[in-house]
Amino acid sequence: AHKSSALRNYPAFSIIRLKAEDSCSRNHLITLKLNPKYPTEPPECLVDLPVQFSASWNPESSLLSIHSQFLAALESLKEFWNALDEIDEKTWVLEPEKPTRSATMRRIAIGNNVSVNIEVDPRHPTMLPECYFLGADHVVNPLKIKLNSNIHLWDPEISLLQNLKEVLEIDFPSREALQKSDFSMDCGICYAYRLDGAIPNQVCDDARCGQPFHEACLYEWLRGLPSSRQSFNVIFGECPYCNKQITLKLSKKV
Ligand SMILES: [Zn+2]
Ligand SMILES: [Zn+2]
Repeated sequence: AHKSSALRNYPAFSIIRLKAEDSCSRNHLITLKLNPKYPTEPPECLVDLPVQFSASWNPESSLLSIHSQFLAALESLKEFWNALDEIDEKTWVLEPEKPTRSATMRRIAIGNNVSVNIEVDPRHPTMLPECYFLGADHVVNPLKIKLNSNIHLWDPEISLLQNLKEVLEIDFPSREALQKSDFSMDCGICYAYRLDGAIPNQVCDDARCGQPFHEACLYEWLRGLPSSRQSFNVIFGECPYCNKQITLKLSKKV
């Protein structure tokens, strides 16, 4: 009896992949997993969307109905992808390296050792996104001040990138332009950009230095200095580059 029930449960499910093109000629894929109880139970839908996708289903539904529900979901996200495609095309996106269609975050290079991290709301892509700046205080603070004082200029009728340019009063340099300059985001301790998936997110605040470091690398460096001291989660010591005072606030246990 044991053996036959095992046989009855086999094969577990079949997989169907459907292509869909949205009205802006972007290609998308939906993967449907049909389990043995299909069509009583709906197929499991795997999608690359920044929002949850749950297709409505009854045993009389066809896979075509899922496809058209998927197309409708794609249409509702058109503005979101338009906004991010423009950013991916016209700026240098440092992270993620290869954004998926579900990725709502972008870290955009502004200049040498300065970047901004934005988190775009897929449902309100032309609203002001959450912005987090990475870089030395003397470069980042003026940007924060501009963002605050120009916030009234934000216009949902124009593109996200255009709005960011207007309120920050900057032009985002292209990857080509930055690579021609002496742009560097590499860690000054391990000389790499990526370390176990992390990018250098600590910078020396000295105006002439501004060297970036991985949090883990800077932590190890400062711990090895006899002159450094730690107070709770903050470590004080000297920058390995310019010997000026540097402060490391530990974001998590390293
Ligand atoms: Zn490093
Ligand atoms: Zn320094």
